Amino acid sequence: MDATKQIVIVGGGFAGTTLASTLERRLPRGWRVVLVSEESYTTFNPMLAEVVGASVFPEHVVAPIRQMLGEGGTSRFVMGRVNGVDRRARHVLVDTLAGAQALRYDHLVLAFGTRAHLDLLPGSAEHALPLKLVGDALLIRNRLLQRAARIELEHDLALRRRLGRFVVIGGGFSGVEVAGEMADFLRALRRWYPRVAEGELQVVLLHDGPQLLPELPPSLGEAAAASLRGRGVEVRLATRARAVHAESVALEDGSTLEAATVVCTIGTRPNPLAEKLGLVLERGRVAAARDLSVIGSEDLWALGDCARVPNGSGFAPPTAQFAVAQAKALAHNLLARIDGRPTREFSHRSKGMMATTGHLKGVAQIGRLRLAGLPAWLLWRGYYLLRMPTLGRKLRLWVEWTWAMCFAADITHLRFTGTREVDAAGRTPGASA
Ligand SMILES: Cc1cc2nc3c(=O)[nH]c(=O)nc-3n(C[C@H](O)[C@H](O)[C@H](O)COP(=O)(O)OP(=O)(O)OC[C@H]3O[C@@H](n4cnc5c(N)ncnc54)[C@H](O)[C@@H]3O)c2cc1C
Repeated sequence: MDATKQIVIVGGGFAGTTLASTLERRLPRGWRVVLVSEESYTTFNPMLAEVVGASVFPEHVVAPIRQMLGEGGTSRFVMGRVNGVDRRARHVLVDTLAGAQALRYDHLVLAFGTRAHLDLLPGSAEHALPLKLVGDALLIRNRLLQRAARIELEHDLALRRRLGRFVVIGGGFSGVEVAGEMADFLRALRRWYPRVAEGELQVVLLHDGPQLLPELPPSLGEAAAASLRGRGVEVRLATRARAVHAESVALEDGSTLEAATVVCTIGTRPNPLAEKLGLVLERGRVAAARDLSVIGSEDLWALGDCARVPNGSGFAPPTAQFAVAQAKALAHNLLARIDGRPTREFSHRSKGMMATTGHLKGVAQIGRLRLAGLPAWLLWRGYYLLRMPTLGRKLRLWVEWTWAMCFAADITHLRFTGTREVDAAGRTPGASA
């Protein structure tokens, strides 16, 4: 039997991959780290809006986990979905391409994130598009292209107006970023859709609070709103959506906004795995102690979005920055536990926050420094370029960004149509996004 001891990490997002790559360089002999994740890549979620706006190709916002980890050595990647944990036998139960498998663990780390809340508003599960995965971003981009193509062919003015209005629900980071990218993309694509008049494509951003980006100071929220309005986005503050219908959004004040496309960026729900494990949950997240161990256990640890981690006098927010900081702290604590040394409390002060508001514009707060416009946008791009793993991927992203600044946006409506489907009876070209 293989006597190597194993730290199994569930989830290959920011938290899981940072932890695995930090540990693999520092694990003592006789230990290995095994990372299990549903997909073979990690997604840079903050860059998903750029995929919607065709600023980058989808491949540029993901990184293959096998390339992020060292080859062979002290780490292993298993593609599969974890369905349960047998804590007595210390086994993780995984559905893999080769069927169900049990992975033995000595320490188990939960880093499986959260899911999008699809039915937060009545009708949103059926009619609104979430933005959580690369597939979601591509679907939204295709929907924009499909709407423009259809408007060209329709004569009914009311229908054209409905098809050309794109509503984004939520004025947080992803809502602001996707609204800006959508507005830029729609403006750019009109050149190839000559029968779509200026003003027929419109993005409306709904936010229920008085200020966009409520995590940032009011001046930056106002700058973000001004920047979006400057590129033609209709920003409606203090406006709450009540329900989403096939061709409209019902607002809390009783009015209706006609729109055939709705992108919903609000709400997350717990990963169903969190409930299956039978652990203490707080607000749907696994309750962690200050050293990131799961409360009441010796061999379970939790971090990132799936965990509720105390930080200072409150709790760590579910952001990539905190997931990465927790991964580094947990690597230290796991090594300490293996060596029989005491663990450390997690503590992190936010280094700042930033958001883009479309091409060449953004807002950022780094410590006391507040930036708006081009400097914030450059900072955003520089930061994510640095975070991208491997020199090859950094170069590809940089070339792609530079390319997109010099040449027209890519308006390919790329769908995954197989040869067998091409001639299927009754199939309307472009009908599905
Ligand atoms: C559109 C968008 C924009 C964002 N923008 C920002 C931003 O600008 N700044 C910022 O700091 N944060 C941002 N965030 C939040 C940030 O992405 C998350 O906080 C971060 O990804 C959390 O990392 P994580 O590793 O905990 O979870 P995730 O990144 O969600 O990773 C979880 C991983 O676990 C895998 N998984 C889930 N269930 C299982 C299972 N049962 N078995 C195996 N694998 C499983 C998933 O496939 C996934 O790979 C944004 C999020 C979104 C959706």
